[in-house]
Amino acid sequence: MQRLAGKVAIVTGGARGMGAATSRLFVSEGAKVAIADLLDEEGAALARELGAPACYHHHDVTDAASWARLVEQVEADFGPVDVLVNNAGILVFATLLETTEDDFDKVLGVNLKGAFLGLKAVAPGMTARRKGSIVNISSVEGFRGANGVIAYAASKWGVRGLTRVAAMELGPMGVRVNSVHPGGIDTVMGNPMGAPRPDLDRIYANVPAQRVGGPEEVANVSLFLASDDASYMMGAELVVDGGMICGDYHPNMPGAPNPGGPA
Ligand code: NDP
Repeated sequence: MQRLAGKVAIVTGGARGMGAATSRLFVSEGAKVAIADLLDEEGAALARELGAPACYHHHDVTDAASWARLVEQVEADFGPVDVLVNNAGILVFATLLETTEDDFDKVLGVNLKGAFLGLKAVAPGMTARRKGSIVNISSVEGFRGANGVIAYAASKWGVRGLTRVAAMELGPMGVRVNSVHPGGIDTVMGNPMGAPRPDLDRIYANVPAQRVGGPEEVANVSLFLASDDASYMMGAELVVDGGMICGDYHPNMPGAPNPGGPA
């Protein structure tokens, strides 16, 4: 049984990385998927690969007019939107002292305002039909601090606030809003130098999973939240991080995976 049979989904940032994995999985589970991104070549190529149930739209999540055009076009081509995955994101590595106002605005613009505009664009139709699921991709950095990602962490904490308020306001009208919190995932964002998996896995030696995550592993969780299997989930925050935020291993205590190694 296909878990998204008959549903129409929009996946932002769908041209590559987790968005591409999500688009592929959603199509394989019976959805029609609009891949929305700025990366036209990759997005169009993926839509061609996926065939008739997929289409590509050039779309800037920071632009309300772009959202209005996207939803109108998707509804004309595929029908009412049942699922939105607010996945598009950017990351600037810089300390507080190095981060410029422009960097901050850009990161918050895509990661937080982009998700806000997405909610606003699909909520009227979903609430009118009393049916819909919105999945906001946050991060483990939405739960903790990390050096060098001040704007990113602020944006991902903000996504949790958006999600909870939207879940409360839209839930009574039949629309579920939840968030997903990936840890280290092997995509262009998570692995900008394109390091081979074994090297990357070594970086995660102190995470319980002892390896980096794959984009498909996050897509599986978005699929669950998008599907009717998650019918009683509203405002939930699902962590997909190989155990990264469980805690820090104490190398000299029982149970550490690398006894005597670095904490
Ligand atoms: P990628 O950088 O591989 O993909 C992100 C996609 O979003 C790119 O295609 C990018 O296009 C697109 N995008 C950026 N800005 C916009 C915009 N304004 N409008 C539309 N599309 C845009 O990232 P991931 O797949 O790794 O990340 C997906 C989500 O997961 C993000 O929200 C990210 O913050 C989150 N995440 C990622 C983690 C990781 O380790 N990879 C960990 C935790 C969370 P372009 O190249 O043109 O910018």
